[in-house]
Amino acid sequence: MSTWYILDAMNRIIAAGGDWNAFAAENDTPSAAVENIVGRSLEEYVSGLETQLYLSSLFQLCREAETAHAFLYRCDAPWMARLFQMRVEPGDNPGELRVIHELIRSREARDEGSKEVELAAAGGAPRCSICNAIKLGDAWHDVYARPERKFFVSGYALCPSCSAHDSLHQGDKLLRIFDAAPSASQD
Ligand SMILES: [Zn+2]
Repeated sequence: MSTWYILDAMNRIIAAGGDWNAFAAENDTPSAAVENIVGRSLEEYVSGLETQLYLSSLFQLCREAETAHAFLYRCDAPWMARLFQMRVEPGDNPGELRVIHELIRSREARDEGSKEVELAAAGGAPRCSICNAIKLGDAWHDVYARPERKFFVSGYALCPSCSAHDSLHQGDKLLRIFDAAPSASQD
């Protein structure tokens, strides 16, 4: 599973391809089909101001330094825990960027820590939009919960570890958490 899109200098999606349509159909989100996203601003698809700022600074870095940057993030489906890599690289024309999302690990979803998440969500706890950690009290906890409405949090933010822009450390952390899940069955 791999999808890509090209952003213009204003972060508008000017082309997209890969498994977009299969992915949109699988996730029951036909609005995410290629014909519906081309011409839109990427910002429309990014929840939370902190995450938007994180991405725009990454895009700026990539445009200025003309180097590629990649990081791992969680994007779970109701039936599956999924770990993706997002890679941003300079595009073919000035100001353009190519963004590639690739599924690197998946496994059957279980209700890992659901009770904690349900309580936290009801209490208005924010969730990290990159690693899915949820803020319980003063600390961030890495828990998996099916993306059901009762687990939806009041807002998205970035946990300190993801906002540190240390993709190597953050990648290690996400892999460790993903692989350490109780009785995980790897695909
Ligand atoms: Zn995080």
